[in-house]
Amino acid sequence: MSDPISALINLQFSPAVPIPEHLVGEVQSKLAYVDEAIRSARIAPSGDQITLEIQEGAANRQDAIQEKVQRVVHSMVKGAFKPKIQVLEDHLDRPVIFDRDPMEELAARGEVSQEADGIFSLGPMLTRLIAYFEGHFEHLAATFEAVPYRFPTLIPARYLERVNYFRSFPHSLTFVTHLREDLDAIDHFALHAACDEHGLNVPAESFSRIKTLLSPAVCYHLYFTLADSTLQSGSLAATAVGNCFRYESSNLASLERLWNFTMREVIFVGSKDYVLENREIARQRMMPVLEELGLAYRVESATDPFFVGEFRKQAAFQSAFQLKFEIRARLPFKDSTLAVGSYNYHQDFFGRHLNIQLPDGSPAHTGCVAFGLERMAFAFLAQYGLDSENWPSSVRQAVNG
Ligand code: AMP
Ligand code: ZN
Repeated sequence: MSDPISALINLQFSPAVPIPEHLVGEVQSKLAYVDEAIRSARIAPSGDQITLEIQEGAANRQDAIQEKVQRVVHSMVKGAFKPKIQVLEDHLDRPVIFDRDPMEELAARGEVSQEADGIFSLGPMLTRLIAYFEGHFEHLAATFEAVPYRFPTLIPARYLERVNYFRSFPHSLTFVTHLREDLDAIDHFALHAACDEHGLNVPAESFSRIKTLLSPAVCYHLYFTLADSTLQSGSLAATAVGNCFRYESSNLASLERLWNFTMREVIFVGSKDYVLENREIARQRMMPVLEELGLAYRVESATDPFFVGEFRKQAAFQSAFQLKFEIRARLPFKDSTLAVGSYNYHQDFFGRHLNIQLPDGSPAHTGCVAFGLERMAFAFLAQYGLDSENWPSSVRQAVNG
């Protein structure tokens, strides 16, 4: 972590190759991970200027930092082509009544309490609002007769390794450890452990080797329960809600981008047709729900935030095969959109890597519909404000009782 009290200096330079408009956001979000001294990174919307705020103490490493930034630019931009964005639903102009950032008022009312960057406790109104959204998602799951699961918050490293997660999303991993089984290390910790502005002052040798991480997604757990077996029924619909963790560095911001968030998923495992058909049915069944919420949103094709080296190839692949669509809600206060959910198709990726077979011996296809619960609430409040008398009546009645 960066030192919160040191002074900052500005570093401004041009990217080695111009960054096309459609990649500005993707590249900018990766710059947070380039160097610990970077406190913020901005790329001009035109893509021709990069501005970094770096800690003063790193002033003598400016050239090295700049060189690393250029490596990111090269890798993500060179040879990239503009994906064709496919819009499946467009209700962005649905009239909404609020245009401020709800965070300040949420904090003033005790509805959010920040424990650390990207880690928030939520109060009664947010909790009720999320329970109301959850009711809709559980109903959606029930229409598929999806069976319920509960998954752990931790996930073994070897599971993530098996599905190439380390290569695709190394930057966002969160590792779990514990003190080694060693009396001296534990005694030393008990007597001397203390926190300073850098965190715990404990030597790295006191901690065990990492075998476990915090889980970055819900549906992976289902695929691991099915690994190395044949899905006798030929198809499966399941649902679960769970804590997910994605370390987003200095991109962590309000309820928009959390380190620890919750996701509700409806998950499909079966043949290609079964998964694709149900993903589409789920999207259609969500349309009246989003209408009842009065949400201004759009559903459009998207790609996952793969890390630098993997980005170009994997994003092009996802977009060519239309593997991901996002529900992007309007955030009126910043004139932008935020993904509150996604409709995903993984082809037979998990079926092949985890040896999940269909009765005919072929690898299973998988897909999931995933909703970010905190983001749903945040986007709704960004469009309707905190006073429930201004909310669409169905939401008001459900939340106020
Ligand atoms: P994904 O699997 O990346 O499509 O994520 C599914 C949903 O989880 C997204 O549409 C968001 O609503 C939510 N989500 C993903 N990352 C975060 C985050 N860092 N903070 C809050 N919500 C998130
Ligand atoms: Zn999923």
